[in-house]
Amino acid sequence: MDKFNQPLSGNEMPRFGGIASMFRLPVTQSAANLDVALLGVPLDIGTSNRTGTRYGPRQIRAESVLVRPYNMATRAAPFDSFQVADLGDVALNPYNLAASIDIIEAHYRRVLENPVKTVSLGGDHTIALPILRAIAAKHGPVALVHVDAHADVNDTMFGERVTHGTIFRRAIEEKLVLPDKMFQIGLRATGYAADDFDWARNQGVTVVPAEQCWYQSLAPLMESVRQTIGAEHPVYLSFDIDGLDPSVAPGTGTPEPAGLMTSQGLEIIRGCFGLNLVGCDLVEVSPPYDTSGNTALLGANLVFEMLCSLPGCIRR
Ligand code: MN
Ligand code: MN
Repeated sequence: MDKFNQPLSGNEMPRFGGIASMFRLPVTQSAANLDVALLGVPLDIGTSNRTGTRYGPRQIRAESVLVRPYNMATRAAPFDSFQVADLGDVALNPYNLAASIDIIEAHYRRVLENPVKTVSLGGDHTIALPILRAIAAKHGPVALVHVDAHADVNDTMFGERVTHGTIFRRAIEEKLVLPDKMFQIGLRATGYAADDFDWARNQGVTVVPAEQCWYQSLAPLMESVRQTIGAEHPVYLSFDIDGLDPSVAPGTGTPEPAGLMTSQGLEIIRGCFGLNLVGCDLVEVSPPYDTSGNTALLGANLVFEMLCSLPGCIRR
């Protein structure tokens, strides 16, 4: 008998059959006795353009049936390393963004009463703010690796202070994250003003625009990220799928041209191994714009890579 929950094998039940839980793992109600909780946060009322991320968690789960338990590149074996389960979705209020933000924070605070790490399926990027509030309440201000086409540091949008484009300004203001241990990778395209990316820079954040990533491996960048953050400090990884190029991730609400390649996304997540990751999210997958399902499939694989980068994950 296995020590930990194992994904239902594709040789036991065909991949197109069975219950489409995340990675075909058991669905549980309680995070007690888990090392890692997979949670869906089906929010899309924080978006500024195309909606649809409310369907993200369900579609990522559906595509995750194709993910197998061993990482053939790194030999990482997350399901031999951790007790992982699908904790289901946060029951948010689809009519009220502010109420939903409070519901998400309260939900994560309850989950984090257990000694568990959360890996979250979005949902639009607004979900990162209440998650970071709960994480910082437990761990103090965290280091942050933020992959995105956008800085998400606007002050307000339509007068609103909490939207998917303002969350990291709020996170810095509320001291949920440490700006000198914060990295924004993949920023690009067009802004509301020419100095849009400078607000974060002026707080001490390291901004790595997409142009600085073109045509090269991001392994050296991640080496310097690990050096700056150090092995002990708690780190949160927030991965907006629109950080990747629309040619590989078209199913998202605010796509921008000339983004990161899939291989570079993998290098970023794999480069987080060795850090004290305490939580991760994969946000902004929007199934109505994902006609092939490949964006959600990529999202599921990125979430698998996140499990492989959690501290203590065994290499076989
Ligand atoms: Mn974002
Ligand atoms: Mn974005």
